[in-house]
Amino acid sequence: MNKSRVFSGMRPTGALHLGHLAGALTNWVDLQEKYECFYSIVDWHALMSNYADPGETRQNCIDILLDWLSTGLDPEKSCLFIQSHVPQHAELSLALAMIAPLGWLYRNPTYKEQIQNLQNKDLSTYAFLGYPVLMAADILVYKADKVPVGEDQSAHMELSREIARRFNHFFGENLLPEPQTLLTPTPKVPGTDGRKMSKSYGNSLYISEDPKSLWDKIRTMITDPAREKRTDPGDPNKCPVWDIHKVFNKDPEQAKEIDKGCRTAGIGCIDCKKMLNAHISAMMEPIRQRRVRYEKDPALLTDILAEGAKRAKVVAQNTMEELYPAMGLLPLAP
Ligand code: ADP
Repeated sequence: MNKSRVFSGMRPTGALHLGHLAGALTNWVDLQEKYECFYSIVDWHALMSNYADPGETRQNCIDILLDWLSTGLDPEKSCLFIQSHVPQHAELSLALAMIAPLGWLYRNPTYKEQIQNLQNKDLSTYAFLGYPVLMAADILVYKADKVPVGEDQSAHMELSREIARRFNHFFGENLLPEPQTLLTPTPKVPGTDGRKMSKSYGNSLYISEDPKSLWDKIRTMITDPAREKRTDPGDPNKCPVWDIHKVFNKDPEQAKEIDKGCRTAGIGCIDCKKMLNAHISAMMEPIRQRRVRYEKDPALLTDILAEGAKRAKVVAQNTMEELYPAMGLLPLAP
């Protein structure tokens, strides 16, 4: 029986944090058991926004691969590869560009939002407007059935489906199946300041960070301002430490005690932070051990990427071979 196919990607724009872990990677690791998974480090997508200063993209690719492997993505189970190593992504993107209406791209809410938010970068380029076309190509070149993404990617997923539908309308029914969104269940993971954990806010706990540095960040977090002294009662709902507990504390009994202890000044903030740190440490320990193994073996990382690209190319090439004649292009004589 054929397994359903999953595709997802991440941009190599920096080290991954616990938001990526809880909001995406833990789910990706689970999906490996049930589906045929393709996970791509989408470097073309990174280049779209950092073309003026791409210096770190290469290193970021390796760092993300290490983050992935250490969290349990397994190259024996999943195809792990770099987008630009499989040229069919770029090729299909051009084919889809034939039928992608400009109006759809200009109306994409994330396009407007990003242009506004990243004013230090000139994103008024052809490629950046076409971001959802390349994203559709990433998915459709594997005819993926399911795409695990966060809520923030829902609009792009809808565009991918619309682009597939329109392509099929012109060139042939069911050439490119419409992919389904697999919404990742974990809500936004907050950072050390209570806002969404994000590299650009400087509030992140990183997957690659050592225990001491994680504890230093947790230890110095602000808590409910009402708890000035150890004897002042507090309100967990006003505390960013509690927000992170809600994601990573897997002990409901303890969570209840913390809630009560905070409200009655039965426990101090440092006690609460120590408990959070213990949960995070326990979760990070196997991740750290896997990382050490992979870090020692750079040649293995290169092999994993070569093997991943090879496997991905076979599937992607197959898709392109079906599409060329359907689009009415003259095949090269054998
Ligand atoms: P990109 O800019 O490459 O989309 P992001 O760093 O914004 O990368 O995140 C990639 C994905 O990781 C997001 O689509 C989201 O699903 C998940 N993610 C990132 N940060 C968080 C967070 N703080 N909480 C939950 N999920 C997150």
